[in-house]
Amino acid sequence: MTDLSTEIPAALVARIQQLAGESAPASKLNAAQEADLITRIKAELIKQNAVMIVHFYVDAALQKLADDTGGRVSDSLDMAAFGAAHPAQTLVVCGVRFMGETAKILSPEKRVIMPTLKAECSLDLSCPATEFAAFCDANPDRTVVVYANTSAAVKARADWVVTSSNALQIVGHLKALGEKIIWAPDRHLGRYIQEKTGADMLLWQGDCVVHNEFAAEALVELKRQHPEAAIIVHPESPKAVVELADVVGSTSQLIRAAVRLPNETLIVATDNGIFYKMQQAVPHKTLIEAPTSGGSTQCISCAHCPWMAMNGLENVLAALEHPAEHEIHVPETIRVNAVRSLDRMLAFSRDQGLITPRS
Ligand code: SF4
Repeated sequence: MTDLSTEIPAALVARIQQLAGESAPASKLNAAQEADLITRIKAELIKQNAVMIVHFYVDAALQKLADDTGGRVSDSLDMAAFGAAHPAQTLVVCGVRFMGETAKILSPEKRVIMPTLKAECSLDLSCPATEFAAFCDANPDRTVVVYANTSAAVKARADWVVTSSNALQIVGHLKALGEKIIWAPDRHLGRYIQEKTGADMLLWQGDCVVHNEFAAEALVELKRQHPEAAIIVHPESPKAVVELADVVGSTSQLIRAAVRLPNETLIVATDNGIFYKMQQAVPHKTLIEAPTSGGSTQCISCAHCPWMAMNGLENVLAALEHPAEHEIHVPETIRVNAVRSLDRMLAFSRDQGLITPRS
């Protein structure tokens, strides 16, 4: 049997690619259909005391609707904190399944619904709980740090959950305590954190189907065509791409960098769903997608997550009208263990000022 800590088996890689290929994007709608759905969703949100929590990579129409209805558009760290603090009884989480599970783990008394329960994440899929637990058991002297992009069962096995917004600080903190670390599942982010902190880390070998496709050679060529541009990169990208970056950071950090940098042109290596919020933050700047390997004919994701693309106005309304069919459940035995590692992350992040005390 392949050791998943050194290599993701070819059969699992093929399965992940198959699932990505099979995911159906939300339907294209005309303006009248969109307007009708938005009106009905707004009414349901009020009727059901519900709030939308939307990831940056989800369709712009959902991001706008969340903004217009008192919801939140953010990264996974802030989504988790916002959902836990918000008084709404129902959380409508638009993103991928681990985000819904995280919301449910932190808010077991609330109903958590998602537009689709089939929105996966290649990182989550690459890290099956049973194999991961065996790996942890084989390395009992190590502190287990997992990325938020994991199942509830993997979080339940972890000592800490981190996101790309706080991973550097948390691993740096653990290194200062002299702890050795198991890291899962993103190999690129793990390597980046390892290089930055110097921590002793055993890395799981998963990757994100979106960020793994950003291509360094083509990026060099794009930069040659736009020498005035700054390159901003999410650390789930390959090392050769990260090395070309002027700024490396989480989605929120990249948006802040877009504002802060003096450059009028930015080459952006993360899911292109972020362009909606980033362009709002810098309306006068030109944003260019970083190139992906193989070009649009061969790339799997083409800079947009196939699972994030499953979220649309139609299935948001379906979730509100038929919540039982869209509800996230986490077994209590798993939840009580997973909440410890999540709470630890949130408390640390608040102490460090990475999230506001009330969010
Ligand atoms: S963009 Fe990558 S990390 Fe994010 S949900 Fe999609 S596959 Fe997972």
